[in-house]
Amino acid sequence: MVGLTYEQIVEKIKIQAKVSEDEIKVRVNEKLDKLSNLISKEGAAHIVANEMGVKVFEAPKGGRIKIKEMQLMQRNIEILGKVQKIYGIREFKTQNREGKVGSFLIGDDTGLSRVTVWDEPLMIDVERLKEDNTVLIKGAYVKENNGYKEIHLGSGAQILINPPGETIDNVVQVGQKPEAIVKQISQLNERDFAAVTGTIVQVFEPKFYEACSECGKKVNPETGRCKEHLSANKQLMPVVNIIFDDGTENIRIVAFRDQAESLLDLNNEKLIALKDNFSDFDELRAKILGKQLKITGRVVKNEMFGKLEMVANNVEKVNPKELLNELKTTEEVVR
Ligand SMILES: [Zn+2]
Repeated sequence: MVGLTYEQIVEKIKIQAKVSEDEIKVRVNEKLDKLSNLISKEGAAHIVANEMGVKVFEAPKGGRIKIKEMQLMQRNIEILGKVQKIYGIREFKTQNREGKVGSFLIGDDTGLSRVTVWDEPLMIDVERLKEDNTVLIKGAYVKENNGYKEIHLGSGAQILINPPGETIDNVVQVGQKPEAIVKQISQLNERDFAAVTGTIVQVFEPKFYEACSECGKKVNPETGRCKEHLSANKQLMPVVNIIFDDGTENIRIVAFRDQAESLLDLNNEKLIALKDNFSDFDELRAKILGKQLKITGRVVKNEMFGKLEMVANNVEKVNPKELLNELKTTEEVVR
């Protein structure tokens, strides 16, 4: 994302919202006061623009890009990749339309992406594809699906199979960690792999479960053993639940093992020592509440309560500067 200066943002607000510069300044200062100067003047101007419905960012440009550079809503892109998996063609029927959709997975040296083909004439190309073919995709757009960025091909798009003069090396391996999408909590959907930045507003007492010392998975409650490692020892592992809030909404986050340790900033031994020790836990809680973090994880639905929750995959500390960057990225995704 290209950073804009304060003056550039104000200029955009002036033109699009048809308000005076003085009025904008008043609103920006109000924001700065309200957020106790935790953010920059530019950051405050971004928030004001957002509130007034002013679009500060230009649409991302098309052209030849790498998989990692894809941005949501980007149109008319060109990507060179190697076919990793072919999912085939299936028929679909919704209220509004029916037809065929083909899909496959491609990779380049920066990442992997699913390609979804909607254009009927392109199905011939999808049928011809083989694993390890090099493909040049043209006229595609980027769309989100289940929390991942995907390459979509509608009418006017092209798939060139093994185009002359084009080669691709060092393709990323299947099975590597997917890249998280930065989101606000209110935008989360089931199955998203997302990163949210916010504040811990509630923390519950850690619980412990018996895990296999070999693989760390929960042991079978009936046999008390791991299915795969019958002779392995058992050890107690922590699981911590918190409520996390980013100003748009809050969500329960569940953290197991290492993630529980980094969430509470304590190692497993110290966590086990807290077991049934309520006064020490109260002290810990007081320290944890209000902590600002960036948490990455998978969004799942808690069937019992019908609510979304996140299973933490990574926990990072944040400083106000990073918070501002998150804010900008989030705006970009929302728009
Ligand atoms: Zn095991």
